[in-house]
Amino acid sequence: MKNLSHNTLNIQPSLTVAIDTLAKKMIGEGKDVVSLGAGEPDFPTPQFIQEKAIQSILDNKTKYTAPTGILEVREAISKKLEEENNLNYSPQQIILTSGAKHAVFNTLAALINTGDQVIIPSPYWVTYPELVKWLGGEPIFVEGHKELDYKITPEDLKKAITPKTKAILLNNPCNPTGGVYNEAELEALAKIIVEEDLYCVSDEVYEYFIYQGEFKSAASFDGMKERTIIVNGFSKSHCMTGWRIGYNAAPKNIAHIIGKIQGQATHHPSNISQYAAKAGIELHKTHLPPMLSAFRERRDYMVEHISNALKKEVRTPEGAFYLFLPVEEYYGKKTPDGTLINNSMDLCQYLLEHHGLAIVPGIAFGCDSCVRFSYAASLDNIKKACQRFEEGILKLL
Ligand code: GLU
Repeated sequence: MKNLSHNTLNIQPSLTVAIDTLAKKMIGEGKDVVSLGAGEPDFPTPQFIQEKAIQSILDNKTKYTAPTGILEVREAISKKLEEENNLNYSPQQIILTSGAKHAVFNTLAALINTGDQVIIPSPYWVTYPELVKWLGGEPIFVEGHKELDYKITPEDLKKAITPKTKAILLNNPCNPTGGVYNEAELEALAKIIVEEDLYCVSDEVYEYFIYQGEFKSAASFDGMKERTIIVNGFSKSHCMTGWRIGYNAAPKNIAHIIGKIQGQATHHPSNISQYAAKAGIELHKTHLPPMLSAFRERRDYMVEHISNALKKEVRTPEGAFYLFLPVEEYYGKKTPDGTLINNSMDLCQYLLEHHGLAIVPGIAFGCDSCVRFSYAASLDNIKKACQRFEEGILKLL
């Protein structure tokens, strides 16, 4: 048989998705597993959104839409960007996608030529480097500083730029670290991005999950809007993970290319999910504040309990809904049955198999010294998870 695509042979499967799938399978089989694996809010999709989606089906709004999405939904997003982010994007610059992950794919597909380098601050979301490689680009990792919540500095960025650098992929607030770039930090990075004539892919899917300070879009700074492609979505903010609905907001020429890609690849995201997303925009001022205060409570519980269990101070993440915990001191220890824990994968496997706790190894995010907990889970599950983690860790010899 002839060779299959080299580009796909180079990419790894998504570990966050693999762990979520495995944990859900084990739970389905009746196993006692607490999953803090995937970042998936435990709240149901708000009823108002469900009803609008059902109504759209009953109204027979179930036919093809434009490749970029339904005009009234793009208008609603354009208004949201104007009102909340002070950014002026016409509906022609908005493209609805099948989730934010798809919006990242579209963007990179529009930007990358073979051999182009894309700067990715590390730790990074598992999917970024794989998509860059798949599309023929080269991911260039820039290590964030632990003491800066794993953020990078303008000097770090500057050093990583070469004549082949096409873009930087920023995720703010960051999955997995929970780090949030404040306005001054972002402005300093933006200055270099503009000076060096780079594109900026700004993944803003955790926009609303900031527990202190305010969100600022990377597109807000001088010279940035014409080179920034915003990625956002409804999975996290509106508890709509399975609806697969996200969007790009982009300069006109790039929006046009993304529209072409989508018209050939998927045509458009689900019609019904698009109407549901519009309802989400109408709703979010009332539904988000209580969800955020629940997440803050969960975060604080987890930080306090894990700090006590490990007898060391655990950093409180400022944004998103993940705790990225250094666990290196347990490497080199053995489990009660004599298995050596060498790395984050071994530790997570042990915790899942012996203590019924699913969390994600830091290696998925380019940082093997850590593990990631999602606290977008019920407080009951978070309490169980903290207890299981402590029991598991204490048994290592
Ligand atoms: N974005 C979530 C996470 O990081 C969901 C799984 C995925 O798509 O990676 O856990």
